[in-house]
Amino acid sequence: MKMLIQKWRGDISLEHNQNMAKKSVIARSKKTPKFSTRAVNRCFRCGRAHGYMRDFGLCRICFREYANEGMIPGIRKSSW
Ligand SMILES: [Zn+2]
Repeated sequence: MKMLIQKWRGDISLEHNQNMAKKSVIARSKKTPKFSTRAVNRCFRCGRAHGYMRDFGLCRICFREYANEGMIPGIRKSSW
C-alpha cells in the first residue's frame, strides 16, 4: 500500500486547496516528535488530521473522492 500512495502523490491535483491544513502544520506532523503521544496521523493528500483512515493514509473526504474515481484498487461503492 505504501508504494501505491507514493505513486498517487505525483499525479493527482488538489481541488479543495483552500480547505487544506497549513503547510507548517503538515511539516510538523511529518517529523518524529519528542514524545510518541504527540505523533499525529494526517491525510497525505490534504493534511486533514480527523477522519483519517490508516489503511489508505487518506482522510474520509479524499478517500471518497478517490474511491468515486476508481483510484483505489478493490474499493467499490456499496449497493444492495
Ligand atoms: Zn484528505
